[in-house]
Amino acid sequence: MREPSASSAPPAQGDLLGPVRRVAVLLPLPLREAYDYRVPDGMELAAGDYVEVPLGPRRVVGVVWGPGGGGVEAGRLKPVVRRFDAPPMTEVARRFVEWVAAYTMTPAGFVLRMAVSVPAALEPPKPLLAYLRREGAEPPAGFKMTDARTRVLAQLQDGPPRTPAELAEEAGCGVTVVRGLAEAGLLEPVMLQPVRFGRPDWTRPGPTLSADQQAAADDLRGRVRSGGYSTVLLDGVTGSGKTEVYYEAISAALAQGRQALVLLPEIALSAQWLDRFARRFGAPPVEWHSELTGAQRRDTWRAVATGEVPVVVGARSALFLPYPDLGVIIVDEEHDSAYKQEDGAIYHARDMAVARAHLGGIPIVLVSATPSLETKVNADSHRYARIALPARHGGAVLPEVELVDLRRDRPPARHWLAPGLRKALTDTLAEGEQAMLFLNRRGYAPLTLCRACGHRMQCPNCTAWLVEHRLARKLQCHHCGLQQPLPQQCPNCGEEGTMAACGPGVERIAEEVAELFPEARAAIMASDTLSGPRAIQEMVRRIADHELDIIIGTQVMAKGHHFPMLTLVGVVDADLGLNGGDLRAAERTYQLLHQVAGRAGRGERPGRVMLQTFMPEHPVMQALAAGDRDGFYQLEAEMRLEAGMPPFGRLAALIVSGEDPAQVEKVAMDLGRAAPRSDTVHVLGPAPAPLALLRGRHRRRLLLKAPRSVQVQPVIAEWLSRVEIPPAVRVQIDVDPYSFL
Ligand code: ADP
Ligand code: ZN
Repeated sequence: MREPSASSAPPAQGDLLGPVRRVAVLLPLPLREAYDYRVPDGMELAAGDYVEVPLGPRRVVGVVWGPGGGGVEAGRLKPVVRRFDAPPMTEVARRFVEWVAAYTMTPAGFVLRMAVSVPAALEPPKPLLAYLRREGAEPPAGFKMTDARTRVLAQLQDGPPRTPAELAEEAGCGVTVVRGLAEAGLLEPVMLQPVRFGRPDWTRPGPTLSADQQAAADDLRGRVRSGGYSTVLLDGVTGSGKTEVYYEAISAALAQGRQALVLLPEIALSAQWLDRFARRFGAPPVEWHSELTGAQRRDTWRAVATGEVPVVVGARSALFLPYPDLGVIIVDEEHDSAYKQEDGAIYHARDMAVARAHLGGIPIVLVSATPSLETKVNADSHRYARIALPARHGGAVLPEVELVDLRRDRPPARHWLAPGLRKALTDTLAEGEQAMLFLNRRGYAPLTLCRACGHRMQCPNCTAWLVEHRLARKLQCHHCGLQQPLPQQCPNCGEEGTMAACGPGVERIAEEVAELFPEARAAIMASDTLSGPRAIQEMVRRIADHELDIIIGTQVMAKGHHFPMLTLVGVVDADLGLNGGDLRAAERTYQLLHQVAGRAGRGERPGRVMLQTFMPEHPVMQALAAGDRDGFYQLEAEMRLEAGMPPFGRLAALIVSGEDPAQVEKVAMDLGRAAPRSDTVHVLGPAPAPLALLRGRHRRRLLLKAPRSVQVQPVIAEWLSRVEIPPAVRVQIDVDPYSFL
């Protein structure tokens, strides 16, 4: 039984000439091809229309992808059930789905699922009943004007019509009170369209720009106005006004009646950005990320599709929203690894955004103080344009970076802050300024071991140590989320009271800070100590308002926050990111530490940054201390070029995983034997992944390495076609891998 069938099959003889009209419909399921359906009489369909179609016993939402391809006898085709009354998916959006699918080697239907993520939004929104006060109406005889009723009417003295729920909340009463007033004829019903998004006002003037900023803004405005694809690297130190400048590009798109998309790596951490946008444009941008409620997702998706929402700021998935007329894309902090989606469809949102801009014929702006080497090389070779903002706005100077050599300047035993950093903290607090200690490690200690037998507490599901979270009184696996109580005795030798914490996490640093500076107001800022975006926002406010003296944080606090009183940043373990030693370890460490350092001295007072390291001679540390960004990039680029590594060569990873280690091993070995071999294409592995066990699945990795001139997708497709993969084993393809775990 092949029903419905793939549209790519050859058309059956004579089928297309018959009276039956057919369309190919792509379904948001892990399917590579669109399926044919019959168009019932009286229904008109065009490519891009959202439709409901039968699939086995179910009905699913799909998108008309084009004319049907034949292959299935006309009589056996199932009919399209209905067409949704929603703006169709644009040609650009459909080509984009296909492009992402082909590049990432993901089934097109699976990519489509990201674009049709809220099927409920396809239904026209139901108008909402709202009320105004009815002019001149008097309460009927016998209708008692209670306090609650009076309060509701008072609320309606001014303001727009509101729903019964809104009125009840404002007046502090139940909705029945509102209904009673309506029945008594005192309220005037009004039907509202439910979505009410504020419209940013592009005519509002921004700040007076400096000459450099103005030149940059003019360039971007020009690109948006004239349209056409181009990629621009907006390259400038933190605080140079990159955000102000790209707001001008947004304003230019709005002036043309087009939409703008801003991607931020972690929108939950971006409250300051949202406030700032609202101040600049008089209305908040519309957000798109995983924290939205179902209703918010539905309203937002629909309002983007109808063009009612002009500016979206979102996480990587915002790329797949149904923009009818996108005029510009901004990718802020373009180097951030949060743009790489690592599960489901594996894709890099920055790279896909460039493809989206190309397909749409629009400019895209990649923004960073520390661009990815990929982007830097593209700018150096003039494939991308570059606009530079060399100086901090208003003359603020970049912070002084000092290296604390932990081999000489040693912290006391079982403590982690060196004397030099302790002194700097003391001085900073004495000046009434703020300090931040950065350690990119959540919890109290990364490892718990038994002092008697040396047993280490490991996750049973993952190749990972369990991390002690002392505040939560738990051991936790940071990979699978497993939690267990802290053991009182060693599970291996049974000794009592021998389990000891090894190494520091932020909680342990906070303990040391409390010991050293008992008077100081200190707090931890990490994703697990703050419950969600609101808590993060509140913490950022408390820091900005100087309600805290010392903040101990993970990368949650490294992001673009602006803290005027923060003058000292201490990095507890600057070497941490270098230990894994993957391809981008040095680059990522440089970018992260540079960003952390950029938190210091953003106000009027100069900043100071201290990096604790055992490797002060390492190029990353040397570049940070000397402020020699481009020197570091050049060295890094030379090493990559030498090794034929990205961005000068291509990589693709295959990750083989499954619950049965023998089966996984067999597939991995088969893949190894079948690997493509040529003068240019090399395959490394199979090897056990560093995370050889993850969430109970055994993992093996293979890595394909090729010159830039080779298109790796067809090579991999051909390779996979020669190996049999049982259903219990999964082979994930990661084109341009960023994680090697
Ligand atoms: P970046 O995005 O490069 O880090 P921002 O755009 O955030 O820089 O600017 C840093 C700070 O300087 C912000 O508080 C911003 O409002 C301010 N600023 C930048 N340019 C100007 C300007 N031309 N006039 C007034 N304030 C500015
Ligand atoms: Zn685990």
